[in-house]
Amino acid sequence: MTENKSTEQVHCLIIGSGPAGYSAAIYTARANLKPVLYQGIQPGGQLTITTEVENYPGYPDGVQGPEMMVEFEKQATRMGADIRFGLATKVDFSRRPYRVWIDEEKLIEADSVIIATGASAKWLGLPSEEKLNGFGVSACAVCDGFFFKGRQVAIVGAGDTAAEEALYLSKLCTQVHMLIRRDQMRASQIMQQRIRESSNIKIYWNTEVDEILGETKVEGVRIKNSKTGTKETIAVNGFFVAIGHEPNSNIFKEWLDMDETGYIKTIPGSSRTNIEGIFAAGDVQDRIYRQAVTAAGSGCMAALDAERWLSLQPK
Ligand code: NDP
Repeated sequence: MTENKSTEQVHCLIIGSGPAGYSAAIYTARANLKPVLYQGIQPGGQLTITTEVENYPGYPDGVQGPEMMVEFEKQATRMGADIRFGLATKVDFSRRPYRVWIDEEKLIEADSVIIATGASAKWLGLPSEEKLNGFGVSACAVCDGFFFKGRQVAIVGAGDTAAEEALYLSKLCTQVHMLIRRDQMRASQIMQQRIRESSNIKIYWNTEVDEILGETKVEGVRIKNSKTGTKETIAVNGFFVAIGHEPNSNIFKEWLDMDETGYIKTIPGSSRTNIEGIFAAGDVQDRIYRQAVTAAGSGCMAALDAERWLSLQPK
């Protein structure tokens, strides 16, 4: 890891390019903090793998998630933010300026850092799930549903994401088998109603996934009823996992206070972390709301907090 040939000084560094990161970029650019934003592994964040967003204010007819994120990026660029492709791979927050390595080679020395790295899909943890990942196992119906057009698929999960993805798949597939571990769904009432009204979504209550079947591609799933212990095999070609997300906070573990599941702790009513000059916004610090609009709001908070903090530092 070199520190000499490509070290750069940055006043305000933003890590992550979802609604939180871009909102922070818009505000810090307008405040003349000359923000540099690194987009991370998935430019645009989780909204780039969703379909229609109906609940973001200002879009009365809804908007496609990827399209919305292109607009966020355009707005941040127009305000003067320096948006770059690259992944933060290591940080050292032991002293100022704070050090952040990009793609394991470039070193950024930043006066302030806004962390907006979001969250990623969780997996069940079955060996067969890992083996067949990309060969019929997926955590993104919108990305991969098309491959199963006219076929049968299973989806595990019972939150809004699972409901949304099951509905999306039901428009492409002949049958969607929805595997739910309890006797009720966590999804909002309106989504549950849409699931019930969908003739080709079959719900399996109290159901655990025992094994995903197939050697080189998914051919079926063996499920177990947790009340009766009965096992059953369903023939499917696709297996979708929609059981929630975990925060992308690993590289900050050594430095920042987090809860037991890795969400960065911020001082209530602010975006401040336990280290001054380091701020967190969006899903990486929000285990409760996790909405595009709340992420955007907290990105704005982080920008204002960073601006205030920087203005108090000696020149
Ligand atoms: P959630 O955490 O809300 O739901 C996860 C679901 O997966 C739960 O039903 C949970 O079951 C189930 N689950 C977790 N682990 C396992 C496991 N090991 N095996 C089987 N099932 C498992 O995550 P979501 O991603 O659905 O939603 C996150 C947030 O985003 C929520 O606040 C949601 O409302 C919001 N959202 C809103 C949307 C919208 O408004 N358009 C769209 C998508 C998400 P259990 O219920 O038993 O715990």
